[in-house]
Amino acid sequence: MSLPIVCIIGRPNVGKSTLFNRILRRRQAVVDPTPGVTRDRHYAVAEWAGRSFALVDTGGLILQSDEEMTRAIADQARLAIEEADLVLLILDGTVTVHPDDAAIARLVLRSGKPSVMAINKIDDERRDADVYEFARLGPIEPIGISAMNGRAIGDLLDLVITALPPMPEPMEAPDAPIHLAIVGRPNVGKSSLVNRLLGASRMIVSPVPGTTRDAVDTALESDGRQFVLIDTGGLRKAARVTDQIEFYTALRSIRAIQRADVVCVLLDASQELSVQDLRIATMAADSGCGVFFGVNKWDLIEKDTDTAGAYAKDLQARAQTFGWVPVLFLSALTGQRAARTLEFAATIAAERLRHIPTPELNQTVLADITAKPPPAVKGRFIKIHYVTQAPEPPPTFVIFGNHPELIGAPYERYVINRLRERYGFAGVPIRLRWRKRGR
Ligand code: GDP
Ligand code: GDP
Repeated sequence: MSLPIVCIIGRPNVGKSTLFNRILRRRQAVVDPTPGVTRDRHYAVAEWAGRSFALVDTGGLILQSDEEMTRAIADQARLAIEEADLVLLILDGTVTVHPDDAAIARLVLRSGKPSVMAINKIDDERRDADVYEFARLGPIEPIGISAMNGRAIGDLLDLVITALPPMPEPMEAPDAPIHLAIVGRPNVGKSSLVNRLLGASRMIVSPVPGTTRDAVDTALESDGRQFVLIDTGGLRKAARVTDQIEFYTALRSIRAIQRADVVCVLLDASQELSVQDLRIATMAADSGCGVFFGVNKWDLIEKDTDTAGAYAKDLQARAQTFGWVPVLFLSALTGQRAARTLEFAATIAAERLRHIPTPELNQTVLADITAKPPPAVKGRFIKIHYVTQAPEPPPTFVIFGNHPELIGAPYERYVINRLRERYGFAGVPIRLRWRKRGR
């Protein structure tokens, strides 16, 4: 979905996570957060001025070994910079420039990546002058902000949006190859599944040139349909930072989601579902990708009475807001249902491109709305006049009414549920946009 990655980097305690949360507070997730998924997370889709980007807080990277601090931070910073399309360098304006600040700034400059330098904790104008001390760190002019009280955060985001590199729009034609990313935690069986898919007979396989960095995507054909399997990359360079594997796995997954139409979040049937898996699924949905869960290693599970049903039920219970995400049970080892991965991807990709004609929507969804209109707010009645689907995927329904600003999340859920009941859209995130228009 051409989602640029913005990495927030800086020393501990400069305010990275405060800024991360401040930026995200402005945006409502497509997927309603399942409890625990938003707490302590370090990456999410953010939006400003109509532009979406993946925001990554490298605060999760910090190792607290005192003597190794400087080197460790430099290592982590280097990795984060490598994965970023834009680096958001944060410094603490209440203290003098630290040698590590200068070191990180040098790394950023040497990388040639677009960057924005923010001096945090400039809570009011009395502190404005403190920003200038940092100007010597680089050619980029620093901007003073307060992550805590929100001062100049809009200006900062304007700078970020302006400095983002242009991203190529993926092809969305119905006959374009389906870009499928298989993501998941280490050892769930991603490479086994990819190899199984590539090794299956009657598939034509070729590497796709020109993909980013060291990733090599693979084109293949199955049942007359074209697919591109997106390389999620190994952890080669990150191997040293073993306690941060989760974080790097997430970063690589975000990289893969960036190029995908459909994301298979691969789980290990013999392991507990983790919050990390749900975060990746949330990322995929918020990025506008189709999503399904692949429950791998199904060969390890004792199969008596409806094991799959029980597993699926348990999965739905723990991931309540993912009820629309299909589940495929498979074994990359034995090959059982492995090929269905591509069928799932093709079906979901088609759903993602589905378009409901406006006259029909105004007979169906508008009728649902009229049958149960949004509750009046402070005596103001909300009237909805018209529903239409935006041309581009994922399915986005534009709803015109007199008071779009008064529509609450519960009502949005009601409309989305009605849309799913009528049209399915299995595995596809549905978006609503409310627009103001009187009768
Ligand atoms: P991180 O380690 O870089 O993620 O830093 P945190 O976001 O955890 O913030 C470190 C400390 O700085 C916390 O006590 C925050 O409340 C405080 N802090 C963060 N942003 C601001 C700010 O804009 N102004 C002030 N005065 N304090 C801030
Ligand atoms: P990745 O790190 O996600 O790419 O996982 P790998 O494909 O390297 O697999 C990790 C381990 O799980 C290997 O030992 C595989 O042989 C094993 N494995 C993968 N798929 C299956 C499966 O369907 N069933 C079983 N029993 N083991 C599997």
